[in-house]
Amino acid sequence: MEWYRAHHRYLPWKQTGDPYKIWLSEIILQQTRVEQGEPYYLRFTERFPTVQDLAAAPLDEVLRLWQGLGYYSRARHLHSTAQQIVAEYGGRFPRSREALLKLKGIGAYTAAAIASFAFNEAVPAIDGNGYRILSRVFGMDEPVDTGAGKKLFAELAEELIPPAHPGDFNQALMDFGSLVCTPAKPLCADCPLSAGCYAFAHKSTGKFPVKSKRTAIRTRYFYYLFIRHKNSVFIRKRTEKDIWQGLYEFPLIETTGRVPTGKLVTNEKWAALFGDAPWKICRISGEIKHQLTHQTLYATFYTIDISKISPALQTGYLNISSSMLDSYSLPRLVTIFLEK
Ligand code: SF4
Repeated sequence: MEWYRAHHRYLPWKQTGDPYKIWLSEIILQQTRVEQGEPYYLRFTERFPTVQDLAAAPLDEVLRLWQGLGYYSRARHLHSTAQQIVAEYGGRFPRSREALLKLKGIGAYTAAAIASFAFNEAVPAIDGNGYRILSRVFGMDEPVDTGAGKKLFAELAEELIPPAHPGDFNQALMDFGSLVCTPAKPLCADCPLSAGCYAFAHKSTGKFPVKSKRTAIRTRYFYYLFIRHKNSVFIRKRTEKDIWQGLYEFPLIETTGRVPTGKLVTNEKWAALFGDAPWKICRISGEIKHQLTHQTLYATFYTIDISKISPALQTGYLNISSSMLDSYSLPRLVTIFLEK
């Protein structure tokens, strides 16, 4: 706490006691680092200053503002939880962790963060930073990604949290973990906790926190067809329960492995898409590697000109002016291609 008073970071969401803004910041920060998250927070609070504004907005607009953060189901939950708060709670956030947990899409960590920051409830909010610091200082080798491990860490944090300043304690863990007790190369030499730190004494900071398992990463190969007809292009909305639900993309051929350049035209999905209509490949991009939380995507974009629209393109896709692409919510991978 002493360290926090002297070194805490100035961040816009720390200056507010508004549970709506605290909630917004927590959801954004689950997606990205503070530096990248701050402009998103400012954009969201400017466009939707209250939970009522967010609830009343069309989902497409929320997704567009979220664009670039990834994991779009979080944005959809954000929107539907805002609607629930307006419809069932008259637009007022419940004031305790227990009551907050009853809201859709608000988990244990976020509920504790809102309760402690906005309502001064003495409940610990332990994120990755908190687990790292506590496991290193106390030498706790219980995995942090199991129910039993989480319970032990929560019990320890409940003993430590000062009842008069729970919000500061939780913020202190976050800031200290981001600035001093970092995942790689923690600044132990300058650390005010080093005298009592187990990991420092045992030269074992790299061993903490312990995790029980690594989530398997799935590899996928995407071949996007950027099909141009006069000044228009073709897109469709992803509706499957998969990544990017609700976002728009170009016609896609997904394959189980890498397809050699030019061989894609023999794929049956290619034939189904174009039928007898003639096409001309104008450009094939280099492969773009795109990392999501549990998936690695390898994407290649084919730029194709057509003079006639095939029945499959006519019925299954939106044909929009290419200048209108900006007004659709697109996955970051697609905007990377467009920027290039
Ligand atoms: S001494 Fe090192 S490992 Fe221990 S709390 Fe400080 S920064 Fe973290």
